[in-house]
Amino acid sequence: MAAKDYYETLGVPKSANADEIKKAYRRLARKHHPDAGGAEEKFKEVGEAYDVLSDKEKRAQYDQFGAYFGGNQPPGAGGPGGQGGWPGGGPGGPGGGFQYTNVDMGDFGDLFGNLFGGGVQGSAPGGPPQGRSTAQRGRDLTYEVSLSFDEALTGVSTKVDVQRTEKCGTCHGSGAAPGTSAVTCSMCQGSGHVAQGQGVFSFSRPCPVCGGSGKTIETPCGTCRGKGSVVRAKPVTVQIPPGVTDGGKIRFKGKGESGVGGGPAGDLYVVTRIKPHPYFTREGADVALELPVTMSEAALGAQLEIPTPSGRIKLKIAPGTQDGKVYKLPGKGAPRLKGSGSGDMKVRVTVVVPQDLSAEQKELLKRFASSRGDADTLRAHLAKD
Ligand SMILES: [Zn+2]
Ligand SMILES: [Zn+2]
Repeated sequence: MAAKDYYETLGVPKSANADEIKKAYRRLARKHHPDAGGAEEKFKEVGEAYDVLSDKEKRAQYDQFGAYFGGNQPPGAGGPGGQGGWPGGGPGGPGGGFQYTNVDMGDFGDLFGNLFGGGVQGSAPGGPPQGRSTAQRGRDLTYEVSLSFDEALTGVSTKVDVQRTEKCGTCHGSGAAPGTSAVTCSMCQGSGHVAQGQGVFSFSRPCPVCGGSGKTIETPCGTCRGKGSVVRAKPVTVQIPPGVTDGGKIRFKGKGESGVGGGPAGDLYVVTRIKPHPYFTREGADVALELPVTMSEAALGAQLEIPTPSGRIKLKIAPGTQDGKVYKLPGKGAPRLKGSGSGDMKVRVTVVVPQDLSAEQKELLKRFASSRGDADTLRAHLAKD
C-alpha cells in the first residue's frame, strides 16, 4: 500500500502550523462533506489526515516514519467521540447515515454549526474567504535521470527537461485574447459560487460555469485556447548529491509546476537510474568486486593489485583462501547519502580451476595429489557405513 501524504491531502506545506492545518481541514471538510454533495471517500481522507496532523505526537511520528501506526485505539480512547457517528440527524438520520471515525469532533461541531446554522453563505466565521480562494499548489513532477556508476558516486550537476504548465505569455494568464478581457460570469454574477439546497440545508459550491473564478472568457486567447496556461519543456538544472542509489528519489523543493492563483510551486522528484559498471556493483553504500584468483594464489596466498572506486590498491590474499571468501575494505565504498562517511568495499574471491592443463601440468598435479593423499579425509563425513 502506498503511503498517504497527509500534507498533500490537506494541501498544506510540511511546515504548516496548527492553525494553518486547522483552516485547511475546515475548508476541505466543508467542501467534501457528503451532506454538501461531496464524496464520502474524500471526506474521510481529509478527516484521517487532520486526525494525524492536528495531534502533536501523531504528527511527529508521521513526519519521522511517513506513516502513523497508532490508529487502532479502542473505542472511547480516541478523544471526544472517537468512534462516534455524525451527531444529530442530518439527512439520512441516525443509523442510516455515515459512520465517521478518526475525526476531530471538536472541529466537527464547528463545521456542523456552520453548515446548519445558516452561516455558510458568504464567509463562514473563522474560515477562509469562500468562493474566490482558488490558490492551488502546483503539481509535483517526477523525472528519471540516467547516471554512470562514477557519477552516482561523485554526484553531478545535470539538466532535466521538465514539462511544466506555465502562465501563458500571450494573455498573461487571463485566458482572454489580447485586446479583450474576461467578463463577469452570468451564472454566479461574479461571486464564483452558487447556492444549492434550501433553508437550513443551504450551502454554496463553486460555480460550475466559471469554475469559481467569477469570470468567463468570450474570445479565448489563441495561444492557450483560453486556459491561461501553456505546457512547456524547460531545462531545470539539478544537483545530484554523491552516493545516490539506483531507483533512489531526490526531492527538489519548489521545482515542480508553478502554483495557480498565488499558490506555492510543487516539488520536482528525480529518480536516479545507475548504468551498470563493467566490474563494480553497488549494494547500497557498499561496492562489490568479484576477484578471480588462481588455485595456486588461493593456496599459497598472494599480493594483488585491485581497483576500488577511489583508485587502485594492493590486497593481500591469505594462504589457504577459500572460494567465496569476502574481503571487506572499510570506507572504500560509495559515500553515504544520509549521514557521513562511506560504505565498504567488498572483494569476493572466486577460485578459478584451470581447464586447459598440459600433459606436464597434469603430471605435476597428480604428483601433488599423491603427496597430499587427503582426498578420503576430505570426504570422510560422506562415507557409507
Ligand atoms: Zn493565453
Ligand atoms: Zn460563475
